[in-house]
Amino acid sequence: MARITLRQLLDHAAEHSYGVPAFNINNMEQGLAIMEAADAVDAPVIIQASRGARAYANDIVLKHLIDALAEMYPHIPICMHQDHGNNEATCATAIQFGFTSVMMDGSLKADGKTPADYGYNVAVTRAVVDMAHWVGASVEGELGVLGSLETGMGEKEDGHGFEGKLGHDQLLTDPDQAVDFVKATQVDALAIAMGTSHGAYKFTRRPDGDVLAMHVIEEIHQRLPNTHLVMHGSSSVPQDLQDVINQYGGEMPQTWGVPVEEIQRGIKHGVRKINIDTDNRMAMTGAIRKVFAESPGEFDPRKYLKPAMDAMRAVCRQRFEEFGTAGWAGKIRPLPMTAMAKRYAAGELAPKIGVTRQAAE
Ligand SMILES: [Zn+2]
Repeated sequence: MARITLRQLLDHAAEHSYGVPAFNINNMEQGLAIMEAADAVDAPVIIQASRGARAYANDIVLKHLIDALAEMYPHIPICMHQDHGNNEATCATAIQFGFTSVMMDGSLKADGKTPADYGYNVAVTRAVVDMAHWVGASVEGELGVLGSLETGMGEKEDGHGFEGKLGHDQLLTDPDQAVDFVKATQVDALAIAMGTSHGAYKFTRRPDGDVLAMHVIEEIHQRLPNTHLVMHGSSSVPQDLQDVINQYGGEMPQTWGVPVEEIQRGIKHGVRKINIDTDNRMAMTGAIRKVFAESPGEFDPRKYLKPAMDAMRAVCRQRFEEFGTAGWAGKIRPLPMTAMAKRYAAGELAPKIGVTRQAAE
């Protein structure tokens, strides 16, 4: 079965200059929608589950769901990733249930809401990296706290996110500190804070450089050309999805997400993993609202879940095409985690710091 680690997949993406959307799942419908889209365009996938998703679906159900998807689509490499792990135990148990990659988010304390200091972040991330690399799993770390540069506020998602208000010093990743962090922790991928936030209400206007600090990505990529960067909260919150929801009885205030062109610009500067949840949630909700509004007598869940899957599949397919992920699945030969563990032990995968991309190749 074509399970792949995040590190191997993002190394391939970097080599060929594309990005990979990471879609969140909680249930079978979302899993099938992602895989049908990936199959249609031959794209490798990153499926991620938050702690909230693991609690909602149950670890055993999720494990067998991913096994089922991998069996259905043996030609599509699947990376199964823990989104926003809050401590070592969350990351260890994810790997126990078949995840090939974990995020240790040490920007917040284990409660998932208190901003942590740098020393704590380094220590807890390094502990997870040691544990994960022994078994060949990958680790994404986070430096800087995700939140809006417009308001200083975070958006809690699945119980994860700070409370209160933070300053730009905490909401923007410091490029020099990023170099130190990657060196100290040996993470495979780095999530950075540059104005994106979780949920639908990211920006009150179409974002410009003041509220979406793409220059931070470019500065970090210059210093860490071989580190895979991750953009969280990167749904585009398309107007047409907002309109469908509101047309059929929803009440979503006008909002803006991260424009696809900005993500494409990020991909040119080292962004390899782009987290998307809200767009898929909105696509499904709009489709379900439409059925409910047009056929109020309907009570067979398949009659509204099927259109919901169709709508989500369309969003996933579009992102695979926009990020350049399409067409690569068949060209990747996934290594088992045991082989990745040997590569880590041999020092082959240690971060290259202060080396330009050209010199490293
Ligand atoms: Zn996130």
